[in-house]
Amino acid sequence: TITVEGLSKSFGGFQALVDIELTVGRGRCLVLCGPSGSGKSTLLRCLNGLEDWDTGEVRFGANPVGHRARDLVALRRKVGMVFQNFNLFPHLTVLDNVALPPRINMRLSRDESETRAASLLATVGLAGHAHKMPASLSGGQQQRVAIARALAMKPEVLLFDEPTSALDPEAIGGVLELMVELAEAGSTMIVVTHEMGFARRVCHDVVFMAEGRIVEKAPPNEFFGSPQTSRARDFVAQIC
Ligand code: ATP
Ligand code: MG
Repeated sequence: TITVEGLSKSFGGFQALVDIELTVGRGRCLVLCGPSGSGKSTLLRCLNGLEDWDTGEVRFGANPVGHRARDLVALRRKVGMVFQNFNLFPHLTVLDNVALPPRINMRLSRDESETRAASLLATVGLAGHAHKMPASLSGGQQQRVAIARALAMKPEVLLFDEPTSALDPEAIGGVLELMVELAEAGSTMIVVTHEMGFARRVCHDVVFMAEGRIVEKAPPNEFFGSPQTSRARDFVAQIC
């Protein structure tokens, strides 16, 4: 279970996150949506230790996440992150992209890490591409490598920041399908996306943010069917 309590964060004088309260239980899939600039990426980046915050607390299980280097290393082992633009290591093969993080962070041997990477690549449908360079793959394939890389660390939670918004329409389906499988297998996930089909199919709750605050939180049918605030109504009308 991830617990966020009273989390606030500003950039200079601008408050990007205001008193965020959020709990994501084990095995739950949460979709985070809201207008551009509402703080979705900033919140994910705080959960991943990529961004510092001003006040409030983040806990994994019973353990508060601190900001010392040692805590950050421990945190990043628990959290897998998938970005909009894949962020693969361009100079490493597909196999090494997936094998290297556990080799470095979990001190797995080369053999062990490569065996695990090969099996993860098979899981995401890329068994035949292990020895290619990332740039020679399509966007959808690169994103599936990025998901395999996140899974390689056996994280407690997976964070996705608009994982399909840089993809061609025909590549989106394969990535969403993989995310559906992960959710159905009981992975704990927080997904920033405007893909309503995904949200309706597998997520337990939708959280709607605006101007750095959580404005609504409801199961997908409720949120999309009868949003409670005018902001959420406008938003739902736009993406439907
Ligand atoms: P989008 O849907 O466009 O990705 P978002 O909800 O992810 O938007 P964030 O990227 O979290 O929004 O940004 C929230 C606000 O914080 C924005 O106004 C943004 O300009 C500001 N912001 C984010 N990162 C920084 C930074 N490093 N320095 C200054 N301002 C920042
Ligand atoms: Mg964003």
